[in-house]
Amino acid sequence: MTRDQLSQRVRQIRLSPTQKVAQEAEALRAEGIDIINLGPGEPDFDTPAHIKEAAKAALDDNFTKYTRNIGVVELREAICHRYSQDCNLACNPENVIVSAGGKQALFNVAMALLDPGDQVIVHAPGWPTIVDQVRMVGAEVTIVRTHLEDGFKVGAEQILESVTPRTRMIVINSPCNPTGGLISEEDLRRIAVAVEDRDIWITLDLCYDRLVYDDTPHNLPAVLREIMPNRCAIVGSLSKTYAMTGWRCGWTMGPKELIDACSNVQSQSTSNASSISQRAAVVALTGPQECVGRMRDEYLARRDWMIERLHKDSRISCAVPGGAFYVFPDISQLLSPSSLRTSLEFSAALLQDGRLAVTPGEAFDAPGFLRISYAASMGQLQEGMDRFSRFIAGLKEE
Ligand code: PMP
Repeated sequence: MTRDQLSQRVRQIRLSPTQKVAQEAEALRAEGIDIINLGPGEPDFDTPAHIKEAAKAALDDNFTKYTRNIGVVELREAICHRYSQDCNLACNPENVIVSAGGKQALFNVAMALLDPGDQVIVHAPGWPTIVDQVRMVGAEVTIVRTHLEDGFKVGAEQILESVTPRTRMIVINSPCNPTGGLISEEDLRRIAVAVEDRDIWITLDLCYDRLVYDDTPHNLPAVLREIMPNRCAIVGSLSKTYAMTGWRCGWTMGPKELIDACSNVQSQSTSNASSISQRAAVVALTGPQECVGRMRDEYLARRDWMIERLHKDSRISCAVPGGAFYVFPDISQLLSPSSLRTSLEFSAALLQDGRLAVTPGEAFDAPGFLRISYAASMGQLQEGMDRFSRFIAGLKEE
């Protein structure tokens, strides 16, 4: 079979470069080579014990059959409970659909709302899945760039300047993977007020929203619900908050018509998220939340350590991320025209020679940068950054 036998839709999907790094690091490890892996976008913590107990109980209860396509009502109520506790928002379970992760939730929304030719505004550097999903459903992406100088803040101005009569959706990811940048409540309000009387949706990818540092106000759902309750899709996930990436459990909150449409898409693709994960998710969302605070505090300490460490080298510029668990330094001054010309080549050499896996900025539409995950133990971070320094010291001066 040749590649051109595949559908056009599939041919335009890029192999996720984030997964590519993970695979290469895995392959080296399988050869017995000791690799420090600061590539992955997932918590290094174990899923908290009380959540695992709930999954075991679900199995013992034989809660192992299909559930309602949109998820069990207890879980949709639990999601509403979190919006009430964390965002002071009233929410009705009929406005929520549970999906197999935030990724599927976002895909459902794209399928439900976008037609070929529609324009979707996204920001970059950003998570590549958002762009690929939009393209997969035939819509066109307009990219608005965020910048290191102001902490990769997603600003209202640039987004609004990109709006055209064909704009159908604006997707905002805050905190952003890979930059850790945020959109302020004020900027989101300005965007919402400006587009509220037009046929434009705002989709918020808030999969990292419980990992916001420095007490920055970040109640984005409340902003959209106040201004444009009928044209917002709010996507959340248990993956990062509760260290549950493998459980595949996320959701969309939005107007009932959108939730019904997402349900139609989901019912013809995957049906319900895993019944066992759903039971565990109820306990995660309604049970004690100390585990979330503990993990967040640990990420914060690691972030501060990483920033201090990176700032010791004046050739590296790095903004202080407002959330998530990545640093995103500009390493362009370490590149040279004749040896390591790009951050892609740099990260490949760093893996092969320095035995440290990180993700090149190219994966996020940001050549010249690296994404380094601090979702790893302090010991791993220290060893990883020692390897990074040794690798840089070994680079030949031009
Ligand atoms: N949004 C962003 C920005 C992400 O980085 C990820 C995971 N890497 C997701 C959504 C989806 O995560 P999940 O499907 O595990 O909920």
